[in-house]
Amino acid sequence: VIEIRDLHKSYGTLDVLKGVSINAQKGDVVSLIGSSGSGKSTLLRCCNLLEDSQQGEILFQGEPVRWRGAGQTRHPADRAQVTRIRTNLSMVFQSFNLWSHMTVLQNVMEAPLHVLKQDRASVEARARALLDKVGIGDKADVFPAQMSGGQQQRAAIARALCMEPAALLFDEPTSALDPELEQEVVRVIKALALEGRTMLIVTHDMRLAADVSDHVVFLHDGRIEEQGPPESLFKTPQSARLKQFLSHAQ
Ligand code: ATP
Ligand code: MG
Repeated sequence: VIEIRDLHKSYGTLDVLKGVSINAQKGDVVSLIGSSGSGKSTLLRCCNLLEDSQQGEILFQGEPVRWRGAGQTRHPADRAQVTRIRTNLSMVFQSFNLWSHMTVLQNVMEAPLHVLKQDRASVEARARALLDKVGIGDKADVFPAQMSGGQQQRAAIARALCMEPAALLFDEPTSALDPELEQEVVRVIKALALEGRTMLIVTHDMRLAADVSDHVVFLHDGRIEEQGPPESLFKTPQSARLKQFLSHAQ
């Protein structure tokens, strides 16, 4: 679904990604782990073209992103392609990012109605079914501020799913939550993994990464230091840096 080849990304003189390649095929769950500042969020943001880059390929469903602008920084060249990729890679952020002036149902319906221009009745039926699925069907008509963090994050997941994306991108979806609320969200992510959803998950939660991933990527200082299936990566890490990282993780 999404493939990145040898991506280089810098902010000014700061090289953040120094040649990173990842590949998430249909049904794959790929987790990105690594210490703060290693480039995890930047990599995720590059996937749905929220970031420009300098070098390397990004392919969505086998189709390479077309770039314009030679020299230092290049930008996506084809707006229709950008829209297609963005609407197909729904992102869920650490801080939920719900629209506070809209009810939960309106939040979930907004993009399918106004970006995809889908029919209201079918979007509403789908939105309500998704709210039920993430366990907050009774919260459709409340505003985000009236919900717990775990409920807000589940609403954000329902909103992402309502776009019927080809893949979901999660950036630290549980790190703003208290442990018991975190588990509500982890349960939803596990259920999505069992359904065969394609997901890229940046997480500090090693248990989540171990439980749901087909493949785990350990980023260190803008490079992939080690990667593999969770069984081997977590049980028999090879690199000293990964060993050290895991010994500090909970
Ligand atoms: P964390 O675990 O803290 O979220 P991360 O692995 O997600 O870290 P990134 O957010 O990708 O790290 O940041 C990688 C590096 O890029 C950091 O050094 C950060 O300071 C820098 N950086 C990120 N965004 C910008 C920006 N908009 N402008 C300049 N530098 C940035
Ligand atoms: Mg980050």
